[in-house]
Amino acid sequence: MRHDPSNNNLRNLIIGAEQKIPLSDGTDVTAINFDNAATTPILYSVLKEINQFAPWYSSVHRGAGYKSKVSSDIYEQSRDVVQSFVNSDKERDIVIFTKNTTESINMLSFVLSQQKSHQKVILSTCMEHAANDLPWRNKFKVDYVEIDSLGRLSIEDLENKLIRYRGNVKLVSVTGASNVTGYLNPIHKIAAIAHKYDAKILVDGAQMVPHTSVDMKGFDTLEHIDYLAFSSHKMYAPFGSGVLIGPKRDFEEGNPFVQGGGAIRLVTPRHVEWDEPAGKDEAGTPNIMGVVALTAAIKTLQSVGMDNIYKIEKALYDYAISRMKNIPGIKFYSDPFKEDTISVIPFNLEGVYHHILPLILSGEAGIAVRNGFFCTHPYCERLLGLSEEDLNHYLEEDDDLFPGMVRASFGFYNNYKEIDKFLSILRKLAENKE
Ligand code: PLP
Repeated sequence: MRHDPSNNNLRNLIIGAEQKIPLSDGTDVTAINFDNAATTPILYSVLKEINQFAPWYSSVHRGAGYKSKVSSDIYEQSRDVVQSFVNSDKERDIVIFTKNTTESINMLSFVLSQQKSHQKVILSTCMEHAANDLPWRNKFKVDYVEIDSLGRLSIEDLENKLIRYRGNVKLVSVTGASNVTGYLNPIHKIAAIAHKYDAKILVDGAQMVPHTSVDMKGFDTLEHIDYLAFSSHKMYAPFGSGVLIGPKRDFEEGNPFVQGGGAIRLVTPRHVEWDEPAGKDEAGTPNIMGVVALTAAIKTLQSVGMDNIYKIEKALYDYAISRMKNIPGIKFYSDPFKEDTISVIPFNLEGVYHHILPLILSGEAGIAVRNGFFCTHPYCERLLGLSEEDLNHYLEEDDDLFPGMVRASFGFYNNYKEIDKFLSILRKLAENKE
């Protein structure tokens, strides 16, 4: 019997892993979630922790009452849990709790744009999710590092651009793992090159942090990651909390991104004295439930082991890829035989529109996948080989004809049996076409 690395014990960690849903023929089936890159399900440990904390739920940093003190202490201790999880430098860095990765990157862009500096260039890539592209565009000159024919960042072009901009690059802003192809960028190598030319590095960790171990410190000071952003809802906690980590001193200058109560030390009619970071960057009553949930999720992921999670998900990925490649008409949009990837498979099945396939998978087998451009338009346009002219043409046409791709993304709780079901639908569709 084949060995399935995602054993039942891990599946038992997940709420709704055995949830029944109705199919189009009226029968019931256990839902299969292959859309983990969008949002992961919630862990039982997260729910348990929220329940245990609930009686202590109270305003953070806004009351002298006993419960308020408990809530505030838990909130502050959570920063430590986050820092240990990604091995950030506790002497240098702070953890700012945000709403999600999008807010974290918008915040960083605002903070950096206020710094008095000759460095006005951000180097990014076309691999970026809109969250790590649009916030930079109206505040800096943004240039995009080339990607190669397989969709991978070109290290050579990165260095060439850093040389060409002669010390004017403030930040190299890259995703840790692509939400389209799953590619893991060599973040420490990128960091070392960026630092050599006096630039810093932001890693958008939304896809990387939940699926592989992250070490912000790196091997040495050249390799360290300056800023890291990620979201709770992609790592088995509910929506609503996110993280931005970076050097405290970078947040000391200027105004905070969001202004209001909690961010201030003193306000007079004419003067505002901001609090120290991270308080300065967390105006408004903090989302203590979200932070409790995120911390609980981190602890469970740590107990499963991030290297173990990576291995399990890679085995699921290899299993699916090796079988999908034998299905006639499957086109992959990544190089699926490379090692450095998380479990994200972008593909199309010839003759079945990308927006129809998810409906069939869901209606016939209760399988959830996503389709489209995944908020990562320039990259998908590039991978699909679409020119601006093509896009304008499609924009004028019926929406249904707009090109795109299908994405299957696995979590550590998925298993071979679920993948077999997915493959059987793909095979059936491929055979019926022939
Ligand atoms: N960055 C990447 C790589 C993502 O995949 C996503 C979400 O899909 C985001 C950023 C944005 O995350 P959020 O919607 O949680 O802000």
